[in-house]
Amino acid sequence: MTPLYDRDGWIWQDGEWREWREAKVHLFTHTLHYGMGCFEGVRAYAGATGTHLFRVEHTRRLAESAHALDVPLPFSEAEIITAQRECLSKNGLSNAYLKPTVFLGAEGLGLRAQGLTTHVMVAAWDLGPYISPQAATHGLRALTSSWARHHVNISLCRAKTSGHYVNSMLALNTAVKAGFDETIMLDPEGYVAEASAANVFLLRDGVLHTPEVTSCLQGITRDSVIQLAQQVLGIEVRERRITRDELYTADEAFLTGTAAEILPLRELDGRYIGGRAGASKRGESISSDSVTGRLQHLYRQAVQGELEAFKHWLTPVQYKE
Ligand code: PMP
Repeated sequence: MTPLYDRDGWIWQDGEWREWREAKVHLFTHTLHYGMGCFEGVRAYAGATGTHLFRVEHTRRLAESAHALDVPLPFSEAEIITAQRECLSKNGLSNAYLKPTVFLGAEGLGLRAQGLTTHVMVAAWDLGPYISPQAATHGLRALTSSWARHHVNISLCRAKTSGHYVNSMLALNTAVKAGFDETIMLDPEGYVAEASAANVFLLRDGVLHTPEVTSCLQGITRDSVIQLAQQVLGIEVRERRITRDELYTADEAFLTGTAAEILPLRELDGRYIGGRAGASKRGESISSDSVTGRLQHLYRQAVQGELEAFKHWLTPVQYKE
């Protein structure tokens, strides 16, 4: 596989375009040492009316993450959205993943460093399938993590902070080494929080349940799924505390995230989830009649601009001729 740094293309950094291979930082870049930075994962999709950024609210979350971290952002949300649109057109991309990232400069080291500059980058590339091409149809096998997720008094649960992902990777890598695809993390009190980089939902007796956003990220896909479930499928959604055995005994469960989109959770800690619908048994693909399957279909329609009522989720990317 070609390393990510070895590509043709352009990356936007601090208002200028840099060639992909030349987009480098100094070794004293502060964020490299302490993880004080934030980022977003955004997707663009090709639809019938051209390429669109899906849900520019990502940039609002980026600005809010920086604000919560008390990192001054030298660009407006509008400028960062424009950079994302231009990044797609300059690189000739349509179905793509974008990573707007905010990081601190190399002016000083140490936790008290003063006068650090804030840098912003936007890169876009054609991300392949999340985890595997079969994940969306056959679902994931997950392991509950022994690592707890955030606590509101330990980290900023609303912010998508670079350093938070050490916690995610500890949990994910333990699960992957043990032969699983994903991990489910519990909050410090033992209630279900989220997967390593995705929110979690369960279906029980026709009602969807998802954890409150006290220790999980307030996912934008989570919000899209809630709106589609309520407004199109007429399904009730409850945000509340969930225990791990509720996932074991759910009718269906799935993960949501910008990169992951909607992935069925087939198995948790060796228990198959749902006997009646969804991706229940090893090797069996998800039923299109299941709520998970119907939401996957609706989400695909929404991102491609095929749902009139949700067209406001799309921001067109104007290609330069
Ligand atoms: N939780 C975590 C920890 C994540 O990294 C992500 C991915 N951004 C999500 C949830 C899902 O959020 P979104 O739907 O906004 O991508």
